Amino acid sequence: MFSSLSDRLSATFKGLRGKGRLSEADVDATVREIRRALLDADVALPVVRQFAAVVRERALSSEVSGALNPAQQVVKIVHEELVGVLGGETRRLRFAKTPPTVIMLAGLQGAGKTTLAGKLGRWLRDQGHTPLLVAADLQRPNAVTQLQVVGERAGVAVFAPEPGNGVGDPVDVARRGVASARERHHDVVVVDTAGRLGVDAEMMQQAADIRSATSPDEVLFVVDAMIGQDAVTTAQAFLEGVELTGVVLSKLDGDARGGAALSVASVTGRPVMFASTGEGLADFEVFHPDRMASRILDMGDVLTLIEQAEKAFDAETSQDLAQRFASGEDFTLDDFLVQMQGLRNMGSIKKMLGMLPGMGELREQLESFDEREIDRIEAIVRSMTPAERRAPKILNGSRRARIARGSGRTVTDVNQLLDRFADAQTMMRSMRKGGGMPGMGGLPG
Ligand code: GDP
Repeated sequence: MFSSLSDRLSATFKGLRGKGRLSEADVDATVREIRRALLDADVALPVVRQFAAVVRERALSSEVSGALNPAQQVVKIVHEELVGVLGGETRRLRFAKTPPTVIMLAGLQGAGKTTLAGKLGRWLRDQGHTPLLVAADLQRPNAVTQLQVVGERAGVAVFAPEPGNGVGDPVDVARRGVASARERHHDVVVVDTAGRLGVDAEMMQQAADIRSATSPDEVLFVVDAMIGQDAVTTAQAFLEGVELTGVVLSKLDGDARGGAALSVASVTGRPVMFASTGEGLADFEVFHPDRMASRILDMGDVLTLIEQAEKAFDAETSQDLAQRFASGEDFTLDDFLVQMQGLRNMGSIKKMLGMLPGMGELREQLESFDEREIDRIEAIVRSMTPAERRAPKILNGSRRARIARGSGRTVTDVNQLLDRFADAQTMMRSMRKGGGMPGMGGLPG
């Protein structure tokens, strides 16, 4: 699932590698590619339009980060927007204050509701709950038996209508199921409801009636990720008919393009909460929009690197430094040291650099970069007094000799460091004049 979308997006980002600056034309070309990739993956048109517009706007507005080059920023923007399309924050199940919590499943026939009931049941049981599955799908022959079989496999109790007496009333079964859970102290009830092959008024009315009869805490819309664009129209119909609170994507293990499933959260405004990834009881997971977005972008490692780079530079250096430079303060040896320490984080993850889009020159520098160099720099700077760090020009010959002794380095090492610092300081000053943000000036090596 999503593999061709992944490939397309990765190829697009690769095209940005090595670009130091993105022109408007670069951004437009990139956004066009992203748009095509999403459409080809079956993502709904209104979702694609909105997505492309926001990515373009954000990529063009200079959201400045001292740590990232423009290409990385585009990746970051696309990732963030993708997380948004998938529902934003991970949405956990809401449990009722007074049990039982009622979870109602709705969706078309074959969507995977009954299978999901078993998976949810087992998952809840594993977390110490005492769930009860209620078989209120009296439409499909065998649905009740199927739920009983699934419940048994999951080790979860099932409430089913007594056989015989013709077709029972699903609304009544659902109501009695919830009452039974209350009596027997089950703290969660999962109500499996009937679906049809297509949306129809009678089914929707039945679902709405079950909803009224059981006052569910969650109404989960189960949608087969393989049904393409129909997923969106079906979701809209269910949203209007039964007021959903969340979405479950099923059959995410299939090889369909899956983009329609990606549109459902955005179109309904309801978060994707779970993903079903196979026929087995364990093929089930809580849905994390951010992880799914990373998986789709196929760039988990790169995103980790971007995060770390930001952590290393944003908090400690960029913002703080930017503010101080703006107020006219100078770049000191302490700042230089902080920058170098930031590089240590970069150094420890340099093995990932091969995957990075557009690290260009920095990548080459980092690849030949020896972390021990930072230790040496640190030792030298730490052997200086605070006054010396603030104003290195007072460092005469005897001070330099003292620092060399204190740090276990030679005077030549101290001199080299000071030369390098002077270069970085010049660069910082020229950046202030040019209004740019301080980056990673003065790389060692
Ligand atoms: P319902 O009509 O909505 O209750 O759908 P079912 O739970 O009966 O599922 C319909 C079919 O899809 C069954 O054959 C299930 O085994 C299968 N199925 C359900 N969930 C998944 C899934 O996540 N992946 C795959 N590959 N098959 C699934």
